[in-house]
Amino acid sequence: KLYNEVQDLKGNIRVYCRIRPFLPGQSQKQTTIEYVGENGDIVVANPSKQGKDSRRLFKFNKVFGPAATQEEVFLDTQPLIRSVLDGYNVCIFAYGQTGSGKTYTMSGPSVSSTDDWGVNYRALNDLFQISQSRESSIAYEVGVQMVEIYNEQVRDLLSSESPQKRLGIWNTTLPNGLAVPDASMHPVNSTADVLKLMNIGLMNRAVGATALNERSSRSHSVLTVHVRGVDLKTDTALRGSLHLVDLAGSERVDRSEATGDRLREAQHINKSLSALGDVIFALAQKNSHVPYRNSKLTQVLQSSLGGQAKTLMFVQLNPEVQSFSETISTLKFAERVS
Ligand code: ADP
Ligand code: MG
Repeated sequence: KLYNEVQDLKGNIRVYCRIRPFLPGQSQKQTTIEYVGENGDIVVANPSKQGKDSRRLFKFNKVFGPAATQEEVFLDTQPLIRSVLDGYNVCIFAYGQTGSGKTYTMSGPSVSSTDDWGVNYRALNDLFQISQSRESSIAYEVGVQMVEIYNEQVRDLLSSESPQKRLGIWNTTLPNGLAVPDASMHPVNSTADVLKLMNIGLMNRAVGATALNERSSRSHSVLTVHVRGVDLKTDTALRGSLHLVDLAGSERVDRSEATGDRLREAQHINKSLSALGDVIFALAQKNSHVPYRNSKLTQVLQSSLGGQAKTLMFVQLNPEVQSFSETISTLKFAERVS
């Protein structure tokens, strides 16, 4: 294997924290981020409060401060992505409250500027480059699927026929390894192909959402990259897959205020994010029982969580003072699994 250095990191689960910068117009004087260490330490504090609960230290594999570029973030993600070409299953997801930079990390602010590209475009770009460089020895085929999980229903974001159709989930221990076999599969040969597909996915994701009722923050989107490689000398095949996940916002919804659809959404999000946390916690503890079946999200991601699979979580933070309690709850979620 070419990318064994990935294995040297602790276990197969790693957690990177990323702090988004203040946006234009936001006051920069008050931040909850007190210290970011080179070694993955972060200290958060509430500047408007005193006392022992107002300052806390958390430790991660790595912390990216507000000045970190998309390229820097990708460089630390690249070895994981390349291992997909060696037959590994990899899952990368971004966790955090709405507005904390999940979409920025995974996709970037816009697809038009390559400097701003997030992890998913860079990942595909890299996979194509490496597969071309191995062309004489291994023939790779790459296909992508993109689904949305909303209120515990799985929907194909790339289907031109019936994007509203609910899809079933299969057990990924079956030989073909597809968790959502009825989601359309699109062969891709270049980053341009991927950009086109992702734009379609983004457009389909917006269907049914009004401006005030932005749905993307309350659904999970999962881009799955399937790779099949055939060794031309030995004629043996390998398969790897990559799940790139932009999770629903983790913010708690005030139960006294949310009613109807909003409450139902909040309950579904809560359930699936807890289920994800429980699965990763069980894996980190090396428990013999891993509760994959408690949510659609964990069922869809099962093949890339546990076993030989490699998992990377981006913990996204918003540095604003009014986000302090969500920041603490995000960090506690991450602390439990790392
Ligand atoms: P989320 O997907 O978690 O709701 P977004 O990715 O949409 O959050 O980020 C919220 C806002 O902050 C967007 O305007 C986004 O462009 C900006 N933003 C997030 N992270 C960064 C970053 N690292 N650098 C610059 N702008 C960022
Ligand atoms: Mg988003």
